[in-house]
Amino acid sequence: MYRSICLLLLASLLFACSGEAPEVKDPSTMTEEELRQHADSLAHAYLITDGHVDLPYRLKVKNFKLDKEYLGIPIETKEGDFDYVRAVEGGLDAPFMSIYIPSGLQEEVGASPALADSLIDMVSGIASAHPDKFRITTSPEQMIQNFKEGVMSLPMGMENGSPIEDQIERVAEYHAKGIRYITLTHAKDNLICDSSYDTTRTHNGLSEFGREVVKEMNRVGIMVDISHVSDSTFWQVMEMTDVPVIASHSSARKFTPGFERNMNDEMIKRLGEENGVIQINFGSTFLDGALRTRRDSLRGVLMERLSEAGLSYTDEEAKPMIDAFGEEFPTLYADVETVADHIDHVVSLSSVDNVGFGSDFDGVGDSLPTGLKDVSDYPNLIFTLLQRGYTDEDIEKMCSGNVIRVWRAVEAAATASK
Ligand SMILES: [Zn+2]
Repeated sequence: MYRSICLLLLASLLFACSGEAPEVKDPSTMTEEELRQHADSLAHAYLITDGHVDLPYRLKVKNFKLDKEYLGIPIETKEGDFDYVRAVEGGLDAPFMSIYIPSGLQEEVGASPALADSLIDMVSGIASAHPDKFRITTSPEQMIQNFKEGVMSLPMGMENGSPIEDQIERVAEYHAKGIRYITLTHAKDNLICDSSYDTTRTHNGLSEFGREVVKEMNRVGIMVDISHVSDSTFWQVMEMTDVPVIASHSSARKFTPGFERNMNDEMIKRLGEENGVIQINFGSTFLDGALRTRRDSLRGVLMERLSEAGLSYTDEEAKPMIDAFGEEFPTLYADVETVADHIDHVVSLSSVDNVGFGSDFDGVGDSLPTGLKDVSDYPNLIFTLLQRGYTDEDIEKMCSGNVIRVWRAVEAAATASK
């Protein structure tokens, strides 16, 4: 509180010096309406990063091509959770584009790197088709500069280290291609490490090759992302890296008991001690264990109804039925308060320096919480956090300050070792 009073005094002083006299009000005394406006203005005043947006793969599935007919889609569309117009509305400035590689491709040598290259090319193509709106971004300083210029940054993170295959030199190659974090694995164990979704436990954590990969990522300056890995992989990574790591899109396991894909309390504490950041996943099944179970059973009912109508889940014509089902069972969704509960929990275990946003927009289907349905909704989350007493300074850290700190530390360590 003392700190926020000081900040308010400082702000008043600065404005007094510049001759302007805007109203500076303590958020704790604001009406709900004023707080909403304040949340909206913070969403636009602060740089917002999001650790994980699955736009590239959503477009890939839809056969997106880099030609005239398709190029408007990343700008404005009724589909999916992300487009430029909605992102600007929500104050999003730097969504990490997920270069997502399904685990199934690991069986065929060459398939994963081929997909990785095509997704990287797609993101680069989108940026070069709209240079006034998007820019590929490979450093935190560039991201800050783009923000000042009003251009949206597109940093890239690779979800699954499988495209590295058994070729260690690819780590440096992907760095050269613009990849700035790598999620070590996805749904299955790969050559690097074990996955939380797999039960095989091939390596009991990191493989020998995986240790080399982590070292090489540290050397070249790629952030290590521990979302999706098994617990033993996480602990082994913590033992061997000297630089902070991220969870690009994970939530707290406390609320989803037994769901290894989320981080347990000890892991969150350790991540904090190492100066890392957990970027909270917004998917309802990541947020609420009871909902997870309920959604699983209701999914069966929905599938039955769809098949009776001769439709499958991915059919365009199935969408009204799926939407109606969601309205019939509204408790299928968590809400923005639940996301704030996860943030509170992380803060209670570590600090406000160790949490951020990793929505998984375009990656979690129809499971997004009420109040956080797409990239236009960040102000709702900021409003909720303000209501819970977080200061503007806290919110700036969650929006991007924490991720910038980790990214800079990873860059600095890489430069130092060259
Ligand atoms: Zn994921």
